[in-house]
Amino acid sequence: MNRTEPDQCQTCGKTSTVEHLICHCRKFADIRTKLNIEDNLEHALSPQPINIQKIFNYLKLTKLYQLI
Ligand SMILES: [Zn+2]
Repeated sequence: MNRTEPDQCQTCGKTSTVEHLICHCRKFADIRTKLNIEDNLEHALSPQPINIQKIFNYLKLTKLYQLI
C-alpha cells in the first residue's frame, strides 16, 4: 500500500511543486501579476538581477520563503 501522497496545493488541488507555486498557483496570482513574474519557470528564474529581485520579492510577499 502506498501511503505517501504528493503534497498538493490546497488552493488548486494540483501537485505543489516549486514551478506551481512560482508560476501557476492561483493563490498568488495577484502578487505574480503585480511583480510581473513570468509563467515559465526557466524564464522566471533566469539569472538576471531583475529576475532575482522579482523572485525574491515574490517569495517574501507570498511567504513562500518560509517553506524553502
Ligand atoms: Zn496552487
